[in-house]
Amino acid sequence: MTILNRFIPFGTFKAINLCGIIFTKMPLLPREVNHEVIHTRQLLELAVFGFYLWYVMEWGIRYIKYRNLKQAYYQICFEREAYANESDLTYLKKRKPFAAFKYL
Ligand SMILES: [Zn+2]
Repeated sequence: MTILNRFIPFGTFKAINLCGIIFTKMPLLPREVNHEVIHTRQLLELAVFGFYLWYVMEWGIRYIKYRNLKQAYYQICFEREAYANESDLTYLKKRKPFAAFKYL
């Protein structure tokens, strides 16, 4: 499910996946939808809470290294997997469970 709105996500981010519901400020391209659906798979694998806990912790740890929120964001394993495979619209059919951790 995608909810087009004016407020979420904050800042310069285009879309955010909150518990499998995609919030976006503008219509998404197929590759961007695929990116978010990859996150939904990651969310389910880590029982939602585990995903967000890991996500925030990894972002924080990477922020300590890079001192830049956006740069740290691009290094989070979940984002690296999603960006690396978003253009392959069949990716989820062949993806192995917990594949995000290969991107650590
Ligand atoms: Zn993402």
